[in-house]
Amino acid sequence: MIWESGQVTSPTDPDCLFCKIVAGDIPATLVHESETTVAFRDLNPQAPTHVLVIPRSHYPDAATLAQSEPATAAHLFDTAREIAAAEGLDGADGGYRMVLNTGPAAHQTVFHAHLHVLGGRSMTWPPG
Ligand code: AMP
Ligand code: ZN
Repeated sequence: MIWESGQVTSPTDPDCLFCKIVAGDIPATLVHESETTVAFRDLNPQAPTHVLVIPRSHYPDAATLAQSEPATAAHLFDTAREIAAAEGLDGADGGYRMVLNTGPAAHQTVFHAHLHVLGGRSMTWPPG
């Protein structure tokens, strides 16, 4: 958050796909909304559950978000926990993967911080 003239404003980027989803200008299948985060189903799911949890504020990646808005970064993880529970992924034999691709070499393609929540199938390691 940036304080300007006593008002709280969140950084946004008019050219950013995920800022447009936050603003409601591009449709998405929302599964969760809070004051600081939004979650929606990935357009190209890589698992039976594939949800993206994003901050309403625009930061290029999760590490920059954590540096600038640590409380929002923490809320991103708590939102992931809530989604995993709602999707039935948190049982004793269950589990899910949280992924934070950071930078082009790590296959980040959208430069608005986002946490992937993947589950509903067995995962392998190492990742590709
Ligand atoms: P990453 O490669 O980590 O940057 O992840 C970006 C993710 O955004 C990919 O998994 C895409 O499938 C997903 N994605 C791109 N456009 C949309 C969209 N309009 N709605 C939902 N998910 C999207
Ligand atoms: Zn953005």
